[in-house]
Parts: sequence; structure tokens; C-alpha cells
Amino acid sequence: MSRILVLGGGVVGLSVAMMLARQGHSVTVFEHDRKPLPRSPEEAWRAWERRGVTQFRQPHYLHPPVRQLLESHLPDVKEALLRAGCVTFDRLVTMPPFVTDRTPREGDERFVAITGRRPAVEYAFASVAERSIPVRRGASVAGLLKGPSVARGIPHVTGVRTLHGEEVSGDLIVDAMGRHSKLPNWLEAVGARSPIEEAEISGFMYYTRYFRSTAGVVPAYRTALTTVFHSFSLLTLPGDAGTWSVTVFISSDDHALWKLRDPKFWTALVGACPLHAHWLDGEPITDVLPMGGILDRYRRFVVDGVPVATGIVSVGDSWACTNPALGRGITMGLMHALGTVEVLQQNLDNPFALALAQDSMTETRVTPWYRNTVDIDRTRIARFNASIDGRPEPQPADLPARIADALLVGMMYDADLFRVSAEISSLLALPQEIMVRPGVVNRIMEVAGTREAVIPPGPSREELLHMLV
Ligand SMILES: Cc1cc2nc3c(=O)[nH]c(=O)nc-3n(C[C@H](O)[C@H](O)[C@H](O)COP(=O)(O)OP(=O)(O)OC[C@H]3O[C@@H](n4cnc5c(N)ncnc54)[C@H](O)[C@@H]3O)c2cc1C
Repeated sequence: MSRILVLGGGVVGLSVAMMLARQGHSVTVFEHDRKPLPRSPEEAWRAWERRGVTQFRQPHYLHPPVRQLLESHLPDVKEALLRAGCVTFDRLVTMPPFVTDRTPREGDERFVAITGRRPAVEYAFASVAERSIPVRRGASVAGLLKGPSVARGIPHVTGVRTLHGEEVSGDLIVDAMGRHSKLPNWLEAVGARSPIEEAEISGFMYYTRYFRSTAGVVPAYRTALTTVFHSFSLLTLPGDAGTWSVTVFISSDDHALWKLRDPKFWTALVGACPLHAHWLDGEPITDVLPMGGILDRYRRFVVDGVPVATGIVSVGDSWACTNPALGRGITMGLMHALGTVEVLQQNLDNPFALALAQDSMTETRVTPWYRNTVDIDRTRIARFNASIDGRPEPQPADLPARIADALLVGMMYDADLFRVSAEISSLLALPQEIMVRPGVVNRIMEVAGTREAVIPPGPSREELLHMLV
């Protein structure tokens, strides 16, 4: 049994902590925010102060790999999510009307996701975790403790110091402090080399409003979860307890559209989109919640084949965070959490091997999803920005990008291509894994070659600007 300190009590930190505790380790979670777990999911939504998670009241969707992981490793958390009012959601209900073949296929259950407002989601994870693990809320960590090195020239982390000066030692430290984690600075303070870091502002602004149904019924889908228009996208997500969210997202350079912060303009835009207007038919339970300035950021803690430190690993948003246009953060974080637990299980007695194995697992299993997400974001923002400037849409730069574009057309008409596209957007398979399947690329090009791209009904750019005056 090892003593493991998990820094950060968000969804990813709590999941790592629960999985490790169930393997028999002694785990303590340190959480910066002081407020205790509320008594109910509704109280969590209304009153839980979670300053450490700035996106706490923004929409959250858990892709199918989260459901699968919970069913196999944390079934009581899945039950707690459903008890908290979260709902399962079958991605196949968003199949476009142009797809005439509606026959179910073997394995269709893989598309089932879970969705709920973030406070309800976090309430469920925390209520299960706190039954068996000490979660020290208000114990903010301020730095690392160093012990004798296990490999020459590489600092070995042996514990943490809290903001109040308490020193706590552990056999392994797990950093799950989210997108604001200061781990690189703390590592530098114990003499470590800097990790590799890549960061860019994603360039999106989000305007979200939540609604509640008076009859408990969430609006039905008439189109995809996310619909991409010329210079904005619309995202509709069912939540827990008869709630749902509607998000308009735009380029943060699109100053003319910043007025969407005003509920009057926001409502006018959503109401002008025929496949989305019915999502306004509920009681608004928030104002329009704006969010912007969100970074895509990736870190790597092995440089030139050598770990920057031993005794500590980084997981979830602290390792890499993406902007939420594709809602992938928690799913990537939990894939990473599971991989981390497997790495720790096999390497706890060898800190140097552990650091290398963590890097290798991360690069193989999760980094490709980070890269894929950033690529999709860049393509979308380039298209938004071209539309704002009145330039033609940028053309796909290479063959994989051309195939990706063709898939967007093909999935609107073909049942199998819809599933291919849903596998990618649901993080079930990477494009590079799918494109080597026999016949897939030919089928995409064949369908796309004979069909028109579907332009979603809604205001043109000109009409939109006119609406905002
Ligand atoms: C607007 C928006 C919408 C999003 N929508 C989705 C979505 O639909 N689906 C999805 O999967 N993801 C979504 N995400 C991403 C998702 O929120 C993150 O990926 C997820 O929260 C990462 O979990 P985490 O546990 O790694 O970090 P966090 O949830 O950020 O948790 C980190 C925790 O560490 C604590 N902490 C920080 N510093 C310290 C310290 N010094 N000592 C102790 N504790 C500390 C914080 O208080 C916090 O509780 C969205 C993100 C944004 C910004």
C-alpha cells in the first residue's frame, strides 16, 4: 500500500483518488476551495462556490468513454450521477433526417453518453468519493517538498506544503489542479528543468443560457448537438432534472457579435434558427453567461527522454486543457486518469520508470486526442474569421483535412458514415484509426461526391449583423 496525495478535488482528481483507493492505497485529496459538499445537486447548482473551477456553471457533457469507464471502474459514480438527475443521452437521436436507413446496428449502445449540469456532475463524483476518502477542502497546496534523488540530477518530489505551512509527505503526488495548475513553477522551485509547454488562445467566445422545462420534458433534437453556421455555432445540451443549455459560440475577434451577451440579442439569434428556436421554449434559469479567453495548453514532463522530476505525475486539465467547443475535457481527463492508475499500479516501486511510463501512456492514449481537438478548433476559427472578413472559406490544407470535410457531407446522408463521424466526435476512435478501416475513405468520397453540403437554416451574416443593431 502506498500513501498517495492527490492535488485538486475536481472530477479528474476525485476519479484518480477513488480508483487508487479501491486498489488499497491510502489516498488524501487536497482541494483549494473551502466550501463543503452541498446537501443536494440542486443546492450545488444554486449555492456551491467553486472558484477553483471557473467554468463551474458552464455546460458539461460526458462523452460515451466516460460512461464506459464508470461502468467498468466506478459503477457507484454512474449510479450517483443518475440519482443526481443526470441523464443518459443516445447520440444516434441526432441522426439527420436525410439518412433514410434507420436500422439499428450491432454495437449502437456505444454511443450512449451522460449529461448534466456541472454542479450535479461534480456533486455525484464528490458524494461517492467523500464516503471513503479524506477530501481536505480548503487545504490549498502552495509548493512541493523534495527528498533525495532516485536518479542523478533529477529532483524527487516527496510531499507538499499547504498555504497554511503544513507539510505532508507521500510516496507519490498526483497533480490534478486543473487548467490553472502552477506545477511548472513549483517544479522549477525544487530545481527541475522546465517541462515542454505549448499554449494558444483558442479564440472562441461562449454565450450560454440555461432553461428548465415546466413539464420536465427536454426539447427534441431536430439537428446535431453542435451546428456550425458561417460565423457562429449553436450547441444544445440536455442537462439534469429537466434542464438544458443553449450556447452560441463565436470568434472572440468578432466584436460585432459581442452584443450577444444581451439576452435580447441572444434570444433573437437563437429564435431565428428554425431547427433551434424550440430550445427557447422553457423557463430561463440563468442570464446569458459569457466565457472567453480560454487556452488550449499541453505539457510534457519528459524532455529529451528524461523526466523533469520523479515522484509526481500530472493528470487531466493540469496536463493538457482544451477549449470546450467539442466538450472533450472531462472525457480526455478520465481516459488519462485511468491510464495513470494503470501506470501507477505497475511502477509504484520505481519512480524513474513510473515517470517514463506515464509519459509514454499519455503520448499514446491521450495526446492524439489533444492534437485532434486543437486541429478542429483551428479549422473552425479560421472559417469564422474568413466569414467575418468576407473572405472565401479556407480550403482544406491536406488529404486528411479533405477527407474530414467530405465526412461532414457524407454523414448527413449515410447511416454508416454518420456512425463513423459520431465515433470521432464521441472520442471512441481517432480519425487515423477509422480511415485505415477497409473501404471507409472510398465510401466517404463516394457519398460526398454525389451529395451537396447541407447548409443549416438560419440568418446570413448580413441578416445577423442587422439583427444586432
Ligand atoms: C466553458 C467550459 C465548458 C466546458 N464544457 C465541457 C464539457 O461539456 N464536457 C467536458 O468533458 N469538459 C468540458 N470542459 C472542460 C472541463 O471543465 C475540464 O476538462 C475539467 O474540469 C477538468 O477536470 P480536472 O479535474 O482536471 O480540473 P478542474 O475541474 O479544473 O479541477 C481542478 C481542481 O483543483 C483545485 N485546485 C487548484 N489549485 C489548487 C491548489 N493549489 N491546491 C489544491 N487544489 C487546487 C481547484 O479548486 C479544482 O477543484 C469545459 C471547460 C470550459 C472552460
